[in-house]
Amino acid sequence: MQIKSISIAKLTIPLIRPFITAIRQTDHVEDIVVMIKTDCGTIGYGSAAATPLITGDSKESIISAIQNIIAPKLIGKNINDFNQLLYIVQTAIKRNSSAKAAVDIALHDLLAKWCNLPLYQLLGGATNHIETCITISVKEAKVMAEEAKLLVAQGFTTLKIKVGLNAEDDIERIQAIRENIDHKIKILVDANQGWNAKSAIQVIQNIEKHHLNVALVEQPVKADDLVNLKYVRDSVNSFIVADEACFSPQDALAIAKNNVSDGINIKLMKCGGLDTANAIYHIANSASIGCMVGCMLESPIGVAAMTSFAVSKPNILYADLDPIALIKDNPIVGGAKLVGNQIYLANEPGLGIQGFNQGLELVSEIK
Ligand code: MG
Repeated sequence: MQIKSISIAKLTIPLIRPFITAIRQTDHVEDIVVMIKTDCGTIGYGSAAATPLITGDSKESIISAIQNIIAPKLIGKNINDFNQLLYIVQTAIKRNSSAKAAVDIALHDLLAKWCNLPLYQLLGGATNHIETCITISVKEAKVMAEEAKLLVAQGFTTLKIKVGLNAEDDIERIQAIRENIDHKIKILVDANQGWNAKSAIQVIQNIEKHHLNVALVEQPVKADDLVNLKYVRDSVNSFIVADEACFSPQDALAIAKNNVSDGINIKLMKCGGLDTANAIYHIANSASIGCMVGCMLESPIGVAAMTSFAVSKPNILYADLDPIALIKDNPIVGGAKLVGNQIYLANEPGLGIQGFNQGLELVSEIK
């Protein structure tokens, strides 16, 4: 199965309500879609989300990296040389992890189709579904508490609470949500780098003192501040997760070596695809660091790829793959679907994606 052409397109999907974190706000998903076409007509689908404030990757840089650098190196290559293709993707250009992830996902989709297996089965998974948590954007405490109640009534049992604006209000937010929902509902707190070390310790110690039953706290301080991430971790009893602080296997090694965090949140857009995600997972496991999986605000293509990864691993603590629950309509035919609080993967070969109903705008085709 030889690669004949690679198409790049933009996919826009409106959200049900705006998505607001400590560092950004948006009301739609805008992905770059990659379609790798082969000589036998099979198409491998991948996608990348542009989150310049987190990955440094913009729509323009993702398109340029794929169109001008990565894709030309893959044309004419055979899918049975799979690991060599992944190596080409990872070494074609420095950084640009989102562009690499889109191509890596499409190559995995193709390999699974070539093997006539759903991707999750090819990766070694036996079950095609996983529970996802659901995100509550940072707003006034009262509004967040009401939203929490609503989401629990809809069947979600793990809530991801976005905080990180200021310590006093964040304590109030978490407290209001906890008081408004059953104690059995799990709460994950994500500061998205919004605190400094002192604020983080103040908030987390309050969570502990008031028994707010928070399962973990993600990325309390700035991404590149491993010293203070470790300081926060050493100063509290709560489970501290590195998200924006861990992009690569090298980051995971540094975190493990210096005992920086209790957990790592693996995301394809940060690490450059499923192959590198696997490397991070194994480093973390070897160092007894817990892994959760997450994603950017991205289309169900990336969600399907990360779900395939997550169900193939025995030690994933949480899956934060909720963009599929935040979009108004899913324009993708086939692929991952949300049922209650579970993401279900298709049982067709690859990611099970058959095409698009709407929202796709072709940018270029490399032959
Ligand atoms: Mg996070």
